[in-house]
Amino acid sequence: MIEVIEPATERVMAEVPRAGAEEVDLAVARAKAAYPAWRAVRPGDRASLLRRLADAIEAEADQLATLEARNAGKPIGDAQGEIAMVVECFRYYAGAPERLLGQTIPVAAGVDMTFREPLGVVGLIVPWNFPLVIASWKLAPALAAGNTVVLKPAELTPLTALELERIALDAGLPEGVLNVVAGPGSVCGARLVEHPDVAKIAFTGSTEVGRGIAAGAAETIKRVTLELGGKSANMIFADADLEAAAAAAPSAVFGNAGQDCCARSRILVERSALERFLEALEPAVKAMRVGDPLEESTEMGPLISAGRRESVAEFVPDDAPVVFRGSIPDGAGYWFPATVLAPVSNSDRAAREEIFGPVACVIPFADEAEAIALANETIYGLSGSIWSGDGARALRVARAVEAGVISINSNSSVRVTTPFGGFKQSGVGRELGPDALSHYTELKNVYYATEEG
Ligand code: NAD
Repeated sequence: MIEVIEPATERVMAEVPRAGAEEVDLAVARAKAAYPAWRAVRPGDRASLLRRLADAIEAEADQLATLEARNAGKPIGDAQGEIAMVVECFRYYAGAPERLLGQTIPVAAGVDMTFREPLGVVGLIVPWNFPLVIASWKLAPALAAGNTVVLKPAELTPLTALELERIALDAGLPEGVLNVVAGPGSVCGARLVEHPDVAKIAFTGSTEVGRGIAAGAAETIKRVTLELGGKSANMIFADADLEAAAAAAPSAVFGNAGQDCCARSRILVERSALERFLEALEPAVKAMRVGDPLEESTEMGPLISAGRRESVAEFVPDDAPVVFRGSIPDGAGYWFPATVLAPVSNSDRAAREEIFGPVACVIPFADEAEAIALANETIYGLSGSIWSGDGARALRVARAVEAGVISINSNSSVRVTTPFGGFKQSGVGRELGPDALSHYTELKNVYYATEEG
């Protein structure tokens, strides 16, 4: 069995069966058996089923949000927002089965047309930081396009995925279309990656594991999409509304206790505004309410595990340039205070590596050119923000930053209707929006001869 721990109390909150390679093989066999009937479901009926699934998730939203908040240690308000996004995601992609359009292409002596065909059995491997919502970004387009799936949640947070499997069956999704296997990545995830009957792996997780998945998938030429780590820049120019930038900066990096691939963990500040910005940032960081994830007013919960806390602590040795920190509750729980390091050089380890905890590095810059160079001096390229009162400059910088998801005068990263994904070693492919569907379909070309020759 897997003992599922509640990070705010360090207590076991549930036990679930631990799947191994054999269970993965069984799940893939079930998904394979269900595939011909699922892809043959009429587009309108598949759309109706996905809408019914969205309604069923919505009906259990409170229960799912509480489970997610307890298991992942995230504030209940955040968990409620994530479950609402799961519902929205299924509703959005419920529109897809009837809109998977092809083209007709002018050719000689015939008619040429394209079709978007499903891939078959798709393996979905997801992390523990946003368990159900990231699963939905993959599941909804995969199912809408006519694939069947095997979903492997992270071992630390399997509960909402297992609940989803039950909800989907109750809502009328045919048996075998959605299969959940909860087990270790090195066993279950690895088996999915090598399995000859799995056509594609959609993965969200660390860049390190993503590299192994890309290599493993090469053996059977699987399609692969990867949503990996980040070390994103929050770029603050002296002409910005500094109060607004400072008020938004804590949630940009300390949201989900910093365990967020989009965390703007490098705060680049124009040197002439550095002092004013830090003065405004300090009270915002200290005012963050850290504590019980189930308390409505909580803004930051604990880290996911003791191991994660140890890894984060390594980035804040005794001689680290800590300018100020937030507070943490006493007693049980994997707490770590929101910590701001300043000034940091972009070449320091804390500025180069993904810390995946509530630690921000403040890095001064002299001018626009240096800001862009610093933002791009990283192996990652997931997200980023630009704060400036000069719209032309903000757009210029947005175009120059090598990252997939940029926001101007805002922290916003993810919307169901717009593409999400990384440049460079932050990943391959895009999730959400209309573009995600192309990653769950093959493009087929059919030529029909209408004349001789
Ligand atoms: P992880 O890479 O350790 O694990 C992710 C998933 O992969 C888990 O389900 C795990 O069991 C599985 N896994 C582990 N080893 C495997 C293997 N050898 N073969 C197949 N599967 C394996 O990541 P994590 O610690 O769960 O999550 C944190 C990481 O995820 C961070 O790097 C973060 O940036 C990244 N992340 C990225 C995005 C994004 O959209 N770009 C979103 C959230 C998290």
